[in-house]
Amino acid sequence: MKTRYCPECGATLKRHVVGGEVRNHWQCTRCGRLHHDFPMVVVTCFVACGQRLLWVQRALPPKRGHWAIPGGFLEQGETLAEGAARELREESGVALPASQLQLYMTGTITFINQVYVAFRAAVDTEFVLPGVESLDCGFFSREECPWDRVAYPEVNDVIVRAYDDLASGEFEVWHTEMTEHTYLSRRVSPGQPGEPRG
Ligand SMILES: [Zn+2]
Repeated sequence: MKTRYCPECGATLKRHVVGGEVRNHWQCTRCGRLHHDFPMVVVTCFVACGQRLLWVQRALPPKRGHWAIPGGFLEQGETLAEGAARELREESGVALPASQLQLYMTGTITFINQVYVAFRAAVDTEFVLPGVESLDCGFFSREECPWDRVAYPEVNDVIVRAYDDLASGEFEVWHTEMTEHTYLSRRVSPGQPGEPRG
């Protein structure tokens, strides 16, 4: 593990030990300040036009040139839906009010230290205006979408589920927990029994 340094005083950091237990955050060996690598919150939005979903082609590294569902990191002062609406607008030019976004999926991806919250929305036209972070945007059916050039194949399962839900017209709310070794996903919609699915 590479040495980490205190952003306040420059001394080295060590794992914080509380009551003899080594915790998953750091403490400065000089000033004693605590430092956490809290998970980042990623907000995304599945935008459907008929049976097609909106994809954006990344203009920035990592994965430049690869395709993804529009989304990005939540910023301070934003609600989850506001962040998702902002990322959508910035990347694709699709401007929807946050109030029009429906909660769709939540999850943890422990091996990249992220929490994600996905929303869904529907639009009447395939109008897009790629922003500076996008090379291109487009609405693709399941058959049309560039599966061989997706930016994050780890989450292909949830994208396939979104196409399934579009086909059936029935949308549940899903919660997924992904670790290096496990993938658990279950429905959490009100009134649903929450059957495990993994
Ligand atoms: Zn320090």
